[in-house]
Amino acid sequence: MNLSWYRYDLALKHVFRISRSARTTIPIVLLEIEHDGIIGYGEASPNVRYGETQETVEAFFAKVDLERYESPFLIDDILQYTDALDTHNTAAKCAVDIALHDWVGKKLGVPLYRLWGLNPDNTPLCSFTIGIDTADVVRQKVIEAEAYPILKIKVGLDNDEEIIRTIRSVTDKVIRVDANEGWKDKHLALERIKFLQDNNVEFIEQPMPAAQFDDIKWLRDRVSMPIIADESVVRLSDLPMLAQAYDGINIKLQKCTGVREAMRMISTARALGMKVMLGCMIESAVGVAAAAHLSPLIDYADLDGNVLISNDPFDGVRNINGMLRLDLQPGLGVHKKIL
Ligand code: MG
Repeated sequence: MNLSWYRYDLALKHVFRISRSARTTIPIVLLEIEHDGIIGYGEASPNVRYGETQETVEAFFAKVDLERYESPFLIDDILQYTDALDTHNTAAKCAVDIALHDWVGKKLGVPLYRLWGLNPDNTPLCSFTIGIDTADVVRQKVIEAEAYPILKIKVGLDNDEEIIRTIRSVTDKVIRVDANEGWKDKHLALERIKFLQDNNVEFIEQPMPAAQFDDIKWLRDRVSMPIIADESVVRLSDLPMLAQAYDGINIKLQKCTGVREAMRMISTARALGMKVMLGCMIESAVGVAAAAHLSPLIDYADLDGNVLISNDPFDGVRNINGMLRLDLQPGLGVHKKIL
């Protein structure tokens, strides 16, 4: 098995602003695993919130020795090995996981959802993300997003209520809100969530910093709106504790090391009575397709990472008015574009 990789900068169509950052490009690392003349594609979209950069991803790949395995079919053995190579590095591990799954699907000649026995018609509608901005720009973005039936609104700065009022003045469609840990005080968070409840918001994602677990538990006892964990949930082992403070989890392949662990997290969340959302970082079609193949298993899809960029080096997953459509080809079903 040959492992190779290269850096790529995803260009965002608009400045992407959330409560802790504003970005115009997203540096990623694309991975290829070749064996028997077939190439499996993988992607790492590293996030500094979780301690990763292009440099750490490349350093991790340099340590991976796949020569010790006879074929990519040994996914479980290989991923136990990569997971044990170092702590964290979840985006780098995820790239290996995605590439192995792509290779296996291609070798067997089936799309991944079919390999897993899933019905793509059960994929929930995908939300479209609106980053933090002035009320005027947010109004314009909401109008431009008219085709998308569900909006995910980023908040967490001083103009939250103004943004929500502006959106509600132009649309009554389903909106979900993500504070990205932006509210540091539980009383402020309670006030904001009650305001969201009054404005017919479906749920709130990560209202407060992950470290303020007891404050989130306190909040949950005082609001009716579901509270979904995002920054608080990284991997499978986080779930039992989170069930005490959250109604659901936002799984991202880049945070949890990939498809293999995401499946375990979905089953565990179900056992704990939690809702499951599948999200993404800003990613190319490679990462988004991997999540899209899994999405028949979940309640909420937030897989618009590739819709927000202007130079996706791959195609194969389309977002048609919030409906995710996969190319019905083996593996991920993605194709490298000639750029
Ligand atoms: Mg989030």
